[in-house]
Amino acid sequence: MRDQFGREINYLRLSITERCNLQCIYCRDSNDCFKAENELTAAEISRIVAQMIALGVNKVRVTGGEPLVRKDLEDIIADIARHDEVKDLCMTTNAQGLEKRVWDLRRAGLQRLNISLDSLCKERYSKMTRGGHLSDVLQGVEASIACGMQRVKINTVLVRGVNDGEIDDFIRLAKEYPLDIRFIELMPIGKLGEDASRRITSGEVLEGHPELVRIAPRDPNQPSEDYAGEGFRGRVGFISPVSHKFCADCNRVRLTSDGHIRMCLGHNEETDLRAALGRPDEVLLETIRNAVFNKPCGHAFETMFHSQRAMNRIGG
Ligand code: SAM
Repeated sequence: MRDQFGREINYLRLSITERCNLQCIYCRDSNDCFKAENELTAAEISRIVAQMIALGVNKVRVTGGEPLVRKDLEDIIADIARHDEVKDLCMTTNAQGLEKRVWDLRRAGLQRLNISLDSLCKERYSKMTRGGHLSDVLQGVEASIACGMQRVKINTVLVRGVNDGEIDDFIRLAKEYPLDIRFIELMPIGKLGEDASRRITSGEVLEGHPELVRIAPRDPNQPSEDYAGEGFRGRVGFISPVSHKFCADCNRVRLTSDGHIRMCLGHNEETDLRAALGRPDEVLLETIRNAVFNKPCGHAFETMFHSQRAMNRIGG
């Protein structure tokens, strides 16, 4: 399906919950409390996903909140995987408790994992996530590789004054292990992200690492700009939505866990699909098609944009 600017929209970022077992400092406030009541059921998700696929979606990323907090995650994955049209089925996770479920997820049809990891130091990791266990992430990464997930990627949000002292350590990981480390630029969503002085650009990182050379992307549609140095087993990617806007190539549609289509992280407009869920498939299909057609041209991060939803409520 194409939007009003002719962009082909084929990538669904599917948030299945707002709930999370962590409270990352840049993602959500520590006192927020999220309940399961407003979440789409697995059957509702299945119906919407089927319509999205009928409209041309061929890549699905399951996200949240934290997808692992849903007990029916494996069923949701298996339901998506039964569609042959889906060529890429992946998930973003903080990996808390991943190790014991990763084999079932693989068997259900999950192909790839992006794992969030903002610090390699136990204490700092726990502080940044407000209670997470670094050991869980490391075991999760190992288990993901062992069970045959393709190209495990590590997502690291750099926050000045918090984890910027670890940039060299993360780059070393990409040198020594077959892992892609992706530095994600802090977005102005949430209180911390709205403080621009906390943002670290790819330019700043690269300045200190002349050994890193730009290499071709694995996928022409990927937002990350990839680099590697001589002898690197993995690569270092930069996803820089603020300093290197990639909206012109955006192919994403987001579904929130409470049933809203949000076409852009940097715009608050959403379309509620709940009413259409009670109607025939053609109505649901048309509602999705209209929402996608009206995708904004680009995000509004450079203005005084303020997101009405925290990141965990959108689906990062
Ligand atoms: N719980 C899962 C996880 O931790 O990967 C999936 C959801 S989380 C919201 C998805 C991604 O959003 C994570 O990689 C996280 O680091 C990123 N994220 C959240 N808030 C952000 C912000 N303000 N700027 C940049 N990335 C952010």
